[in-house]
Amino acid sequence: MNPFAIGVDLGGTNLRIAAVESSGKVLEKITLGTEVRRGRDRVIYEMCGAVQGLVAKFRSSTGHLAGIGIGVPGIIEMQTGMLRESPNLPGWQDYPVRQEIEQRLGTKVVLENDANAAALGEKWLGAAATVDDMCMITLGTGVGGGIVLQGQIWHGMTGMAGELGHITADPNGPPCGCGNQGCLEQYASATAVKRMAIEAVATGKAPELARAITEDPEFSSKVVYQMAVQGDEPAKQIFACVGKALGAVVADLVNIFNLPMYVIGGGVSLAWDAFAPALMEEVRKNSFVYRATAPLPSTPGVQGAPIHDDALPARRNTIITSALLGSDAGLLGAARLPMLVSDPRVPEQELKRA
Ligand SMILES: [Zn+2]
Repeated sequence: MNPFAIGVDLGGTNLRIAAVESSGKVLEKITLGTEVRRGRDRVIYEMCGAVQGLVAKFRSSTGHLAGIGIGVPGIIEMQTGMLRESPNLPGWQDYPVRQEIEQRLGTKVVLENDANAAALGEKWLGAAATVDDMCMITLGTGVGGGIVLQGQIWHGMTGMAGELGHITADPNGPPCGCGNQGCLEQYASATAVKRMAIEAVATGKAPELARAITEDPEFSSKVVYQMAVQGDEPAKQIFACVGKALGAVVADLVNIFNLPMYVIGGGVSLAWDAFAPALMEEVRKNSFVYRATAPLPSTPGVQGAPIHDDALPARRNTIITSALLGSDAGLLGAARLPMLVSDPRVPEQELKRA
């Protein structure tokens, strides 16, 4: 019997929970339609109920519970388990999330930033499974990031490292919610794509986008992507802008870290083919470390699943690629958290009965 863990991905819109074996096999996945606006007490109550249900279901049949990992959006103080700031969870600021959940479950939990958890998920079972060191940029409503070194999340001093979405792509760019200007998030998030579409319409030079915005009540970054694929020039320009900003930041990361792999994930990364050319061009132009380590054109795995090239044992390549796990990255990474913890704070788990 394999040990199993519970992973929780607490998003801004819904709450997902999974029971996952240490082998990576997903035993069960639940999506709770919990509305965050109903308040944190309700969210935590429903989350804890679902966690207890899964633990009870699998503990007897599967094996022992390795622990519970929870990914939350926002910056977390690791030592205290406090959520310091979370744009997607209004009312949770300076809230002792870990303590509240531990009290309710009667056991220790591992709390992590959601984008860090996603990076760990891609490292464990996704695009970066073949490397020890990687970083991931998650393009969603906002832009998150995570750095994994030697298989472990790099936390920095307090747990707030890896905020890659708030690296400056253009110091004169639009203001960001974090207080800075021209953050990557202002160019490469779903929110930014939509904003850039509205800006393009305001110039009067994007008639197709203008029509889509007027006629489609569900107008979103996905619609802009579909139009780019169909060849609409202003829509293509928007994704070139996404790629250029991403490329500027990835080039910085390559120069700083010299890691073997950089993974681009999140919903907007599905538009990979629309922004990747500009991304790769910008990285090549801006980073001499990348140029010295870029995969040769014939290398398998370029812009796809990474494959080590045995024919070139001496050459170490920098791979920039799209994520493989989709929206499950954060959930699987959260389940992975307790499996990596050697913290004596997290002993054999015993849960209060629901
Ligand atoms: Zn910012």
